[in-house]
Amino acid sequence: MHLDEAYDDNNIFAKILRGDLPCFTVYEDEQTLAFMDIMPQSPGHVLVIPKNPSTNMLTIAEEDVVAVMRTTHKIAPSIRKAMGAEGFMVVQLNGSEAGQTVPHLHMHIVPRQGGIDIGFHARDVADMDELAAIGEKIAAQISADLSA
Ligand code: 5GP
Repeated sequence: MHLDEAYDDNNIFAKILRGDLPCFTVYEDEQTLAFMDIMPQSPGHVLVIPKNPSTNMLTIAEEDVVAVMRTTHKIAPSIRKAMGAEGFMVVQLNGSEAGQTVPHLHMHIVPRQGGIDIGFHARDVADMDELAAIGEKIAAQISADLSA
């Protein structure tokens, strides 16, 4: 995928946003959706996407990227708490040369534990029951922290 490629309405995240494909949602507001990565690089790997269509950092509107960062900032502490993670990574890839595989901008939040390497990018599909359980735990922590 080239950086200046037109937005593909049929990319996986566009389908998730339309409700054509399921996901484990952990947080949602007017401008963004956060859900579990189906091929997590560590337990608790969450993606934050804008609801408006945008392929990458070059084409996204300022208000949309601000909304994505606001949500990332809002939910990352709860993800860390829910997973008991010592640290976490916030990662965003632009173009296939950089490793981007889904052409709808997204922020990765990847919890990290000392001494444990992250898994391969977008390779091993998680056990769905396990992913659902982790998603529920994270969603509950986010909702508890936001209502505190
Ligand atoms: P990228 O490579 O574009 O930075 O990241 C795309 C991410 O989307 C990868 O981490 C990959 O595991 C995840 N992913 C790919 N397909 C799906 C899907 O159908 N559902 C969910 N929840 N995540 C997906």
